[in-house]
Amino acid sequence: MQKQDILSLSYAQLLEICQEFGEKKFRVDQLYQWIWQKRVRNFTDMSNLSKVFREQLQERFFFQTVKIDTVRSSTDGTQKVTFRLHDGCIIEGVVIPAKDRLTACISSQVGCGLACAFCATGSLGFTRNLSVGEITDQYFVLDDIARQKHSQGITNIVYMGMGEPLQNYDSVLLSIARFTEEKGQAMAPSRITLSTSGLAKNIMKLADDGFKCNIAISLHTANNGIRNKLMPVNKANDIQKLSDAIAYFYDKTHTRISIEYTLLDGINDTIEHARELADFTKRFPVKINIIEYNAHQLSPYKKSDKQKTDAFVAFLEKLNLIVNVRYSKGKDIDAACGQLVAKR
Ligand code: SAH
Ligand code: SF4
Repeated sequence: MQKQDILSLSYAQLLEICQEFGEKKFRVDQLYQWIWQKRVRNFTDMSNLSKVFREQLQERFFFQTVKIDTVRSSTDGTQKVTFRLHDGCIIEGVVIPAKDRLTACISSQVGCGLACAFCATGSLGFTRNLSVGEITDQYFVLDDIARQKHSQGITNIVYMGMGEPLQNYDSVLLSIARFTEEKGQAMAPSRITLSTSGLAKNIMKLADDGFKCNIAISLHTANNGIRNKLMPVNKANDIQKLSDAIAYFYDKTHTRISIEYTLLDGINDTIEHARELADFTKRFPVKINIIEYNAHQLSPYKKSDKQKTDAFVAFLEKLNLIVNVRYSKGKDIDAACGQLVAKR
């Protein structure tokens, strides 16, 4: 039998397998504690389990972990980590401190195949999906790093690192199950945000699958012509399809949707563009995050200046829309998603 990634298994699945080994339920509770609370990543150290049980586990399972490659600290408190995977691939994760939270930004793929014109990860292309273990283990490593620096663990998780989470649907959802389940990290779903470039079918699938976390849509423009150029994913998932998918998602989940909008100088930052955005948001309640563009050498774009940004935001606020302006963090450490890996 092929060995399985133990980090991908739910408590119920692990219980079933271990009962086949002849183990009692409380032993499986102990095993789950070792994995999810004590964060031990080898069976040898699970000292209260019998030697026979540990050997059975060793034969049947492995841990798909990530190793720290580099850690860079920004003057604003952001820490960016590159992780090395078992096959030598490199991915990125970030610890982002804010007033009331410590957010872990984690990756879902090595690279990304969706080729958004402004994104450093997009220029890398797609290498492979991450396993459940590789996704969840980023959180544990970032949590350790956060505890060392801030004396406090991670409070929130965003799937905004490298890759498109909805193209690695099953593993991403299994990782969320591990973060949220009672015997796992027991994190509230409201503390987790999945960001997507807008794969309409899978947004609807999330709703059908009872998704309880937040969803952020990387819209960046509500104009098909501009979006086709910025985000090739728009060709198969145009504004109308995306709008239908979000309306469907909202109908089923009643969760407010976040809209991510990066202002690019001369591209999507006029009042007419703001009006198109406002029209787009009429079908469902949203929170609009205006994100300062993190410029990098792999794309020709520049961020919009303060005057244009203020006018854009003021227009939306006049319509009583909820708007947050998010300034880019970690500029001194190349924190734009994919930038560090692309540099190598
Ligand atoms: N693939 C998913 C999640 C990863 S990207 C998605 O596209 O949503 C996470 C967010 O970072 C997206 O909103 C993306 O548009 C944005 N982004 C990418 N490169 C950026 C940059 N250089 N500056 C600011 N935001 C960027
Ligand atoms: Fe991929 Fe998201 Fe970057 Fe687009 S913005 S290339 S979907 S990671």
